[in-house]
Amino acid sequence: MQELKKEVQAEIAGKKGSIYTLQFDDLKVWLQEEGEPSFRADQIFYWLYDKRVEQFDEMTNLSKSLREKLSSTFSITPLKEVAKQESVDGTVKLLFELEDGNTIETVVMKHGYGNSVCVTSQVGCRLGCTFCASTLGGLKRNLEAGEITAQVLASQRALDEKGERVSSVVVMGIGEPFDNYKELIGFLKVINHDKGLNIGARHITVSTSGVVPKIYDFADEKLQINFAVSLHAPTTEIRSRLMPVNRAWPLDKLMESIKYYQETTNRRVTFEYGLFGGVNDQVEHAKQLAELIKGLKCHVNLIPVNYVPERDYVRTKREDIFAFEKTLKEAGVNVTIRREQGHDIDAACGQLRANEGKKK
Ligand code: SAH
Repeated sequence: MQELKKEVQAEIAGKKGSIYTLQFDDLKVWLQEEGEPSFRADQIFYWLYDKRVEQFDEMTNLSKSLREKLSSTFSITPLKEVAKQESVDGTVKLLFELEDGNTIETVVMKHGYGNSVCVTSQVGCRLGCTFCASTLGGLKRNLEAGEITAQVLASQRALDEKGERVSSVVVMGIGEPFDNYKELIGFLKVINHDKGLNIGARHITVSTSGVVPKIYDFADEKLQINFAVSLHAPTTEIRSRLMPVNRAWPLDKLMESIKYYQETTNRRVTFEYGLFGGVNDQVEHAKQLAELIKGLKCHVNLIPVNYVPERDYVRTKREDIFAFEKTLKEAGVNVTIRREQGHDIDAACGQLRANEGKKK
């Protein structure tokens, strides 16, 4: 008989982990150990991900004893909604409390093609990007895979009321996903699994600030998941000023890892490039950027800085944003200016959480 993976064993022994953390195959192994037939895994996944029940007792085709075993071993949803903001453009920002009292946020964005959910991967962040609100209180802890999955389910439950579906997921909320790599991969596998949420890999995007060793690992996973890198600077000097992570893994090493990713997966890469007034937003920077990414199959997303009160960056003037875009286009770069959503709510990453924290 296959053994339960050590981490699953530890989780079960230590505390009631979220059942959403379990892969389909892990659940089968657990059932086997409990003397249950493996088709129960299909039934349980159906209740969790199709019916989206929040109580084991609602899983009516399971025996009472199995339901009891499940609820004494696992929790279902580890999230409690504590605040909700809705923007006029349809963006919904949810603040959740975790079982240990920490809070995280999830954003549901409405696009022409459907609803995209932006999930948090860590409670806080330790990377210290100088423009970002998520990192203000440092890193509290990693999220379990199930705590990330639960955000997608909570968003889907909110959409169920309107008869809509989560059509894509972006891991671009609070935290650095590649600083919580194992749980990230577990999460991706569950939401992608055909018996899980069945969200197609091409509808999932992971963004990293540039944790280089994990870019190699991610390439080797050979997933069809979209990959984005927060580049934000065309030179290593400017990047180090904006992002301390660049001191650990400088720009040339980052670019090497991205080339490896592309050679291994043959997939296009997205570069996020925040425009910070007077720092990285001039035509000369656009030219350097075009040179830096030459030869890569890629797309550049320009993000005019979101104002964060604790950070003193200023927005780039409209005409400078367009000049930047034009310079890239003329150099043959695929580029778009990110459409802003939720401007009337705490839109920037980590802002709702930071502001709720201040109120307390
Ligand atoms: N840690 C990962 C995932 C977060 S994605 C990463 O860095 O990629 C969130 C994106 O928003 C990142 O590109 C981040 O750099 C960017 N961002 C954070 N704060 C911002 C701000 N104030 N203005 C514009 N972009 C910001």
